[in-house]
Amino acid sequence: MDGRDTDVVVVGAGGGGLTAALAAAEQGAGVALLEKLDRPGGNTFVSTGSIPAAGSRYQRDAGIEDSAERMVADLSRQSGPHGTGHLLRLLAEGSADLVEWLVESHSVDLRLITDYRHVGHSVPRLHAPPDRRGASLTRDLLAAVRRLGVDVVTGNPVARLLTDDGRVNGVVVDGPRSGTYELRAPAVVLASNGFGNNRDMVARWIPGISGARYSGAEGSTGEAITWAAALGARLENMGAYQGYAALAHPHGSIVSWTTVEKGGFLLSPHGDRMGDESVGYSGFAPVVALAAEESHVVFDTRIRDFVREHEPEFAELVEAGGVREAPDAPSLAAVIGCDTSAVERALEDQRHAAVTGTADSMGRTDFPMGALRAPYCAVRSVPAIFHTQGGVDVDEHAAVRTTAGGVIQGLHAVGGVAAGISGRSGAGGYSSGNGLLTAVGLGRIAGEAAAQTAAHTAAS
Ligand SMILES: Cc1cc2nc3c(=O)[nH]c(=O)nc-3n(C[C@H](O)[C@H](O)[C@H](O)COP(=O)(O)OP(=O)(O)OC[C@H]3O[C@@H](n4cnc5c(N)ncnc54)[C@H](O)[C@@H]3O)c2cc1C
Repeated sequence: MDGRDTDVVVVGAGGGGLTAALAAAEQGAGVALLEKLDRPGGNTFVSTGSIPAAGSRYQRDAGIEDSAERMVADLSRQSGPHGTGHLLRLLAEGSADLVEWLVESHSVDLRLITDYRHVGHSVPRLHAPPDRRGASLTRDLLAAVRRLGVDVVTGNPVARLLTDDGRVNGVVVDGPRSGTYELRAPAVVLASNGFGNNRDMVARWIPGISGARYSGAEGSTGEAITWAAALGARLENMGAYQGYAALAHPHGSIVSWTTVEKGGFLLSPHGDRMGDESVGYSGFAPVVALAAEESHVVFDTRIRDFVREHEPEFAELVEAGGVREAPDAPSLAAVIGCDTSAVERALEDQRHAAVTGTADSMGRTDFPMGALRAPYCAVRSVPAIFHTQGGVDVDEHAAVRTTAGGVIQGLHAVGGVAAGISGRSGAGGYSSGNGLLTAVGLGRIAGEAAAQTAAHTAAS
């Protein structure tokens, strides 16, 4: 094609879009990075910014042995079978180089997390900003793209794709501030996340959780998946999502799952356990949603102080009064609003399992800080959906695959627009970091491929 306005258009300035822009600009492509809201970052901004990487030099420095094979085995165990095994292998194999590239070539500050275990991973493998905030990851990625001369154009929502004879060759922007205009480019990267904030799409694809609270960023309204599907894109894993079992209520911040992993548990308003929390924060979300509208996360002051020291967001929740302290079981029952006998039963169940090394009544065996001790802590919480993991199927260049078996020329998809690696449906297949791995990992692949497409079309 020519008559191009730029080489590569990236739709959405979250983790996936910023990384795609970075990779494309690094290859020398001209990039237009369009963001519909007034602030970049999307879900990436509100996340904890943790990206898995197997075999990184930071793991080696910490004496941790890891490999892409081990990562594939871990994540497959958590997800069960799904239609995107090819992506899991591709992303795992590129993950160490991805994180090292971000840190060493682009000054993105990521450090290996070794002080707690992550759902789905058998070794410490998650690399995150020192303050564990996606806002810091977003800030560093923004600085990196700006160093390469890419501006983030906020307040410019993409409304549809331009095509010519089945090939995507640009976008139409249409918004109250931007006005309506066309932007032509030989390659477009869809990086506008999934459909968590689109009630109709959630009801269609994940009806079981359509009533749950959505607590991700507002921009995730799913339009890019609809555009690609209209061009014949193949959709995969549409019922899969990342849930979170315990969002502090009414504060709205996450109750760190480390409180549970260290030995805490969740109680219903009647003071009953609802299941085995070791399935993870995502897998436990539908368990809570089915059992009760809200619950309490119960732990003790030792766990509170440990987590407060390591996780600033949790420290803020403590400061804000979201973590109630109870000197004994009757006071804990009063905080929850249930019978003391129910709380005593739950504490005794946990104590017996932790002390004897046997399973508790829910089948759970993992209590690393032993039996809970008074004084206890409780946080009122609700289950939530964080983001959707289904989307368009992509190949090894993050090019969008069609139902007919080919690819849509000129179109790439990353992050929440692309089909994820967390199983075919439900929340239980999600391992920590799957969201950002498909955003940042596919973002790099798509940015490089889009830059090459732009160079080839210019030469031909
Ligand atoms: C509280 C929370 C914690 C999380 N923690 C983690 C974690 O630690 N690790 C992990 O891997 N995942 C985590 N996740 C999930 C992770 O945040 C997402 O999977 C990931 O950020 C998705 O990145 P993305 O680039 O695809 O989308 P986003 O970061 O959401 O970026 C998409 C951008 O596109 C914009 N956009 C949408 N439509 C348009 C349009 N039409 N035109 C232009 N722009 C558009 C949006 O406004 C947004 O800015 C967490 C999620 C939440 C909610």
